[in-house]
Amino acid sequence: MLLEVENLNVYYGAIHALQGVSFHVEEGEIVTLIGANGAGKSTTLRTISGLLRSRTGHIKFKGQDISMMPADQIVRLGISHVPEGRKIFAPLTVKENLLMGAYTRKDPNEIERSMQRVFASFPRLKERLNQLGGTLSGGEQQMLATGRGLMSRPTLLMMDEPSMGLSPILVEEIFNIIKDINSQGTSILLVEQNAQMALSISHRAYVLETGRIVLSGSAKEIAENPRVKEAYLGV
Ligand code: ATP
Repeated sequence: MLLEVENLNVYYGAIHALQGVSFHVEEGEIVTLIGANGAGKSTTLRTISGLLRSRTGHIKFKGQDISMMPADQIVRLGISHVPEGRKIFAPLTVKENLLMGAYTRKDPNEIERSMQRVFASFPRLKERLNQLGGTLSGGEQQMLATGRGLMSRPTLLMMDEPSMGLSPILVEEIFNIIKDINSQGTSILLVEQNAQMALSISHRAYVLETGRIVLSGSAKEIAENPRVKEAYLGV
């Protein structure tokens, strides 16, 4: 098992945001967390990244307990987080943004190789290497945030709402790229409100409601579940 999350209870002051959340990701999988606004999806990713702490349970990555590790060490171990809203560095160029993603690495040749791999997935970033991040379109910013996430050479890439605010064509492009990244060997933990698209590329999925996992199964099972169809697929 690549990632094992067991019994997370996370609070923001008096708000009990995660209430006993458990799930796992196997090596090579794309796993999606589906849920409405405020269900706790971002909180889950932020806790795995070491930005928030759970009061109970544990998070194991490649068998090692990371629940108390500082965030930078978690990146070094192989988890990368592409945050909601992209959070690119607006006053920095595309190249500088990508290099920020490699801050845990030293070897310049290896970093250059990773950058070339990012350009293979996102040729548009190569064309805009010296453009300021803040002047990119929404779709380009998502590409940049994803590319930056790949620069640490993660085993597990966590993506928070990559399709948010993008046109249908760009959404499809982003999901194709996610599939591609996965087929090259990176496991993916995806958080999405666009359940239909997310399920179409995922192996398995979990449904999160008000801080609890209420359903889990193969992406196909979840997509065919009557409750999911009604609440998340608009069927
Ligand atoms: P969204 O897609 O809207 O971001 P989400 O499923 O990612 O939803 P979270 O952002 O994880 O949901 O929020 C879970 C709960 O925790 C919500 O009730 C939210 O209001 C609350 N919450 C999130 N961040 C904070 C914060 N910084 N302070 C207080 N409460 C917070």
